[in-house]
Amino acid sequence: MNVMVLGAGIVGACTAIELLKSGARVTLIDAGTPGAEQAASHGNGAWLSPASIVPMSTPGLWKKVPGYLMDKSGPLTIRLSSLPGLAPWLWRFTRAGSTLSKVEQTARSLNRLLRDAPDRHAALAREAGLDHLICRNGLLYVYPDKAAFDAESLAWRLRRINGVRWQEWDQQKIQEKVPQLAGKYRFGAWVEDGAHCLNPGDYVRGLVEHAISLGADFISGSVSHIDAKGQLTVAGRILSADNIVIACGIGSGELCKMLGDDIPMRSERGYNIVIKDPGFELPIPVMPSDGRMANTSTNAGLRFSGQVELADEAAAPDWRRSDILLQHAATTYSAIQDTVFDPARMTRWMGKRPSVADGLPVISRSRASAHIFYAFGHGHIGLASAPKTAQLLVALMMGKADSAGCDDYAVERFY
Ligand SMILES: Cc1cc2nc3c(=O)[nH]c(=O)nc-3n(C[C@H](O)[C@H](O)[C@H](O)COP(=O)(O)OP(=O)(O)OC[C@H]3O[C@@H](n4cnc5c(N)ncnc54)[C@H](O)[C@@H]3O)c2cc1C
Repeated sequence: MNVMVLGAGIVGACTAIELLKSGARVTLIDAGTPGAEQAASHGNGAWLSPASIVPMSTPGLWKKVPGYLMDKSGPLTIRLSSLPGLAPWLWRFTRAGSTLSKVEQTARSLNRLLRDAPDRHAALAREAGLDHLICRNGLLYVYPDKAAFDAESLAWRLRRINGVRWQEWDQQKIQEKVPQLAGKYRFGAWVEDGAHCLNPGDYVRGLVEHAISLGADFISGSVSHIDAKGQLTVAGRILSADNIVIACGIGSGELCKMLGDDIPMRSERGYNIVIKDPGFELPIPVMPSDGRMANTSTNAGLRFSGQVELADEAAAPDWRRSDILLQHAATTYSAIQDTVFDPARMTRWMGKRPSVADGLPVISRSRASAHIFYAFGHGHIGLASAPKTAQLLVALMMGKADSAGCDDYAVERFY
């Protein structure tokens, strides 16, 4: 089987490796450098979390939205001028979480992609010689008190019924394990099976290099056109392929439209700020309930990442969103020093989470051709869920029995 994999982010890289291991000949194509800033895979929170199965859209969300919009330093913002264009996506997004049973179903489908994500990444990294980039210390959610934890009972119930394991820590245990945290966090949930990546951008680049070492070709160029016969225009050149996988993250939507598949996908823009040499390292990545951001020590510095900004696809980044993360960081850690706020030590980044309105990715054959496949739309969980995505997709392509689990992610659900 000859396959062109369009997009060399985490999903394209994992898919290429899985295809090569199944005996396919693979060509990877990307408009940018794999793992570089244009990819969502570059600057994410680096969490490989089996606990990320809670959909963003849950019952009653719409009641909270006005509060989020009023709170200038809150975790969610919508640019008002973009609202009309976003309305159809927002409507589907809200409906996807309108009942408990829908949310439970989505959590089950996400769990299938995430439950063994740390094991899958550990195995993949080992095989690619990148095991120094995967760290398995668990992941810690912290709250001011038990009442704040209980206020998120739906999220933790979904995790419990899907087999996610955690330990509950009191203030003393939190301070013993993560002494850098401020004393205001008196309750914690440590997800013991969680893991993180020490540098997602380097990881993706390393995986693409591994794919090349296994025999893949790499073409640098943007795919500007595709048709159902498998003809592509790449940086002005016409190429044709027997089989194609579209794994271009947020860039996938345009290509699918050319094939007649209009996917309800928008970018949930997210931000990070990385502090080089912050003076301390977090022994465990932390998610504070007030800041709602992933705080992770990476090999490039301490990374704070989060925020959801809904805006026009082409809108310029609003770097105040990164600064909000920094403001939260200042009150989250007692260990934080004033020197951390030295602009020379900081880098900021904005990336586009490819988010499908129903909260699930598209892992599917296209409707236009039996030889064109989709692997995109992973929203908040693409780093963690990429290896399982690759396994499911390749099983589907090869007609293997274990592709049966793909139905939840099929493109037909929109038609
Ligand atoms: C702030 C933030 C925090 C996050 N935190 C986490 C986390 O902690 N854990 C987690 O699991 N997930 C997290 N995510 C989500 C995760 O980063 C994404 O779901 C994931 O990176 C998507 O991977 P991808 O390969 O589909 O897309 P991308 O990484 O965006 O890769 C797509 C690639 O396709 C290329 N491309 C696009 N269009 C074309 C074209 N027309 N022609 C050729 N090439 C093209 C691009 O250059 C790019 O390299 C976070 C995201 C953000 C923004």
